[in-house]
Amino acid sequence: MDLPTSLLEKYSKAGPRYTSYPTAPYFTEAFGEKEWLNELNTTQASGRDLSLYVHIPFCDTLCYYCGCNMVATHDYSKADAYLVYLFQEIDRVAALTSPTRVARQIHWGGGTPTFLKPVDIRRLFQHLASRFIIAPDAEISCELDPRELSQEHIAALAESGFNRVSMGVQDLEEKVQKAVNRVQPEALIRQVYAWLREAGFNSINIDLMVGLPHQTVEGFTTTLDKIVGLAPDRLAVFNYAHVPWMKKHQKLIIESDLPDLTNKLALQKLLMERLAAEGYVYVGMDHFAKRSDEIVQAQQSKTLYRNFQGYTTHKDCDIYAFGVSAISQTGEVYVQNAKNLAEYQRRIEAGGLATERGLRISRDDMIRREAISRIMCDLELDKAAFGAQWGIVFDDFFADALPELDDLAADGLLALEPGLIRVTDTGRIFLRNIAMPFDAYLRQQNTDNQPRYSKTL
Ligand code: SF4
Repeated sequence: MDLPTSLLEKYSKAGPRYTSYPTAPYFTEAFGEKEWLNELNTTQASGRDLSLYVHIPFCDTLCYYCGCNMVATHDYSKADAYLVYLFQEIDRVAALTSPTRVARQIHWGGGTPTFLKPVDIRRLFQHLASRFIIAPDAEISCELDPRELSQEHIAALAESGFNRVSMGVQDLEEKVQKAVNRVQPEALIRQVYAWLREAGFNSINIDLMVGLPHQTVEGFTTTLDKIVGLAPDRLAVFNYAHVPWMKKHQKLIIESDLPDLTNKLALQKLLMERLAAEGYVYVGMDHFAKRSDEIVQAQQSKTLYRNFQGYTTHKDCDIYAFGVSAISQTGEVYVQNAKNLAEYQRRIEAGGLATERGLRISRDDMIRREAISRIMCDLELDKAAFGAQWGIVFDDFFADALPELDDLAADGLLALEPGLIRVTDTGRIFLRNIAMPFDAYLRQQNTDNQPRYSKTL
């Protein structure tokens, strides 16, 4: 793969990950609980399938690179209290949901969902299942932290019906693990992985991270060798997003220990070449999967989509999300729950939902969201078909994006064929940059003068 440093220098800039469009910084308190209740009521007739997300914010310790909404604690009574509120929130949304609607996808994220004791994993899942109809073939997934995870946790997940897991590893080098305060020996990872396979999980994703302190090509080669030796079904290899102005604890990472641009480039090349040689397809946006995996199949059949959980094959679901900071979505609306745990609990205790802010999107937003999705999921966009779908002339509607697309093409990230925009192999690494010309909000003045997003690479 041809990946000159000049490309990284040019395109390593702040940009969204586009799990939504418009992105979360544009949600507003003007769209709150009243508006969300109204949306919930008026969209029941759609009968659309549901994707249920549950956020468990607790973690035993703080990883210094963490970008999630989490609370580090050893006090389990906090989880006990949280579950009481979570159950109430689930009940209130379920009461507004048409009984004919079916959940096709369930995802638990965090934080660390397996911070919950096995008995509470079962209790929470049973509660969800008693309030929503879950399709027999639903995709039910959970994020795992291998530390503190027992076989009882895994049994609770398997017996509840979870069929996918995603395990955070990041890097196996001890020096890197110590620098980010996440020490988890290789033997532990192997043990947990073996327990998961024994319990029947046949879809295991492993999360890795590049750009962490002390990472070198040599060290990361060893990590990759060991991880591909386990043969996970999917790999998500995120670029570390260093945003200490947003995540204060990231100041605990010593910046001079972070790999420089040349090393980041070498790590990126290593990753692409090594995983391709092992038969993993780079879907895009940090995600790799075996050729037989359904996300690769969905990409080929152009049925892949993106939402807050990343790539999904469940495009036509409304997302009902529960817990602190969780983001729900219907066709035209996004809403986010209170991001502060005490505030979340206060709102539920007051008898309402925990909705803090949201947005009803415009037709312009919808058209741009679809263009960004097609680029990120299909890796190509047919201008005539897209124009016909939305009743627009593509080049007129996106006139302001065209010069930037030409520039991306000149750099070899796009191939502009007659009527077709196609992402090149090199361009797959720069998908965020390729989506950015379609984003009208990036052209607006940022009033607080703080970068809103992490670097694209
Ligand atoms: S386990 Fe995950 S959510 Fe918790 S601190 Fe570490 S990275 Fe953040």
